[in-house]
Amino acid sequence: MKKTLVIESSWCKSCGICVEYCPVKILDLGEEGVYIKDEEKCIVCGQCEQRCPDYAIYLEKNE
Ligand code: SF4
Ligand code: SF4
Repeated sequence: MKKTLVIESSWCKSCGICVEYCPVKILDLGEEGVYIKDEEKCIVCGQCEQRCPDYAIYLEKNE
């Protein structure tokens, strides 16, 4: 069961914390907040979810 990364752009304040903590460096900041550069490379570690102060990025279990 793979998890999917979800971004709630309206909650993201573009602080860049998740971009810094992602161990495989696949997150970046754009005009509408954070976005995923290469989802294929996500190792589903949950660092972004744990570090985001605004709950704007999280992993969701696939059914
Ligand atoms: S779950 Fe881990 S690898 Fe995937 S985007 Fe978040 S910090 Fe990066
Ligand atoms: S840590 Fe949260 S608020 Fe900050 S850039 Fe990442 S998703 Fe946006």
